[in-house]
Amino acid sequence: MSDLIHTADETVQKAADAISAAHHLVAFTGAGMSAESGIPTFRGESGIWNEYDPLVLDIGFFKQNPAESWRAIRDIFYKKAAENPPNAGHLILADWEKRGVLKHIITQNIDDLHYQAGNRSVSEYHGNIRNLVCMKTGKLVPFDPSVFQDDDPVPRSPWGGIYKPDFVFFGEGIPADAARRSAQETSQCDVMLVIGSTGAVYPAAQLPQLAASNGATIIEINPNSSAYTNTITDIHLQYKAAEILPLINKLLRIQE
Ligand code: NAD
Repeated sequence: MSDLIHTADETVQKAADAISAAHHLVAFTGAGMSAESGIPTFRGESGIWNEYDPLVLDIGFFKQNPAESWRAIRDIFYKKAAENPPNAGHLILADWEKRGVLKHIITQNIDDLHYQAGNRSVSEYHGNIRNLVCMKTGKLVPFDPSVFQDDDPVPRSPWGGIYKPDFVFFGEGIPADAARRSAQETSQCDVMLVIGSTGAVYPAAQLPQLAASNGATIIEINPNSSAYTNTITDIHLQYKAAEILPLINKLLRIQE
């Protein structure tokens, strides 16, 4: 898709103008943000759930069947994340934070790519893959590939427990700090950029709805429709995040 096609779409300039005029811009990101980094989304044509059973990320199942869960988790998140760096969209959001254009990111993603791109004002609503937690002691350790032994799919801690990735499984609560900060940023924002989320996973999905009910302008970047598109979205950019964010960046009218 060329720049010419993008610029011919006046909604792109409209979005750039809303971002330029924002006092407190917050981005809410979902799996689509990382699709062009090669990490598949959960749903959709090449979604993870076409290949794996969502049960592997259920906390009750994990406790009973750690080997089955870990085999899938390793393939889905650790192998892919290790191979795939932040994309052009992540890099634009990092640049916007440095320039003061973007105040905060609330991400549902656990892949660490906003951090790797350089963003530091980030609420990881569903935790992250950077750390492992020992299920016996609750101790956190940074992930290191050497925890995986060739003959055992389950990484084990030196304290006699098994490790679980420090991200939120189905059936677990949202980390308290991330929940608090996300609620605060959502209530403060006057423009929310909703990128690559179906809006199907609660309680995260309600944050854009709360922003909209507080009067924030909702700009959605998603090649498809989501639960937000025909309900709260003011400007829908039907493009891939890594393609459109660099173009929006060129169209910003910000005095620095
Ligand atoms: P989802 O998989 O349910 O939906 C992804 C959305 O992204 C869809 O609406 C799709 O149309 C859109 N999309 C696909 N490609 C895109 C692109 N290039 N640019 C912009 N949008 C694109 O994801 P969700 O709504 O985030 O919810 C699923 C849950 O899955 C989240 O809680 C998240 O924690 C988890 N998850 C995380 C990762 C990750 O960390 N990268 C990957 C898969 C799932």
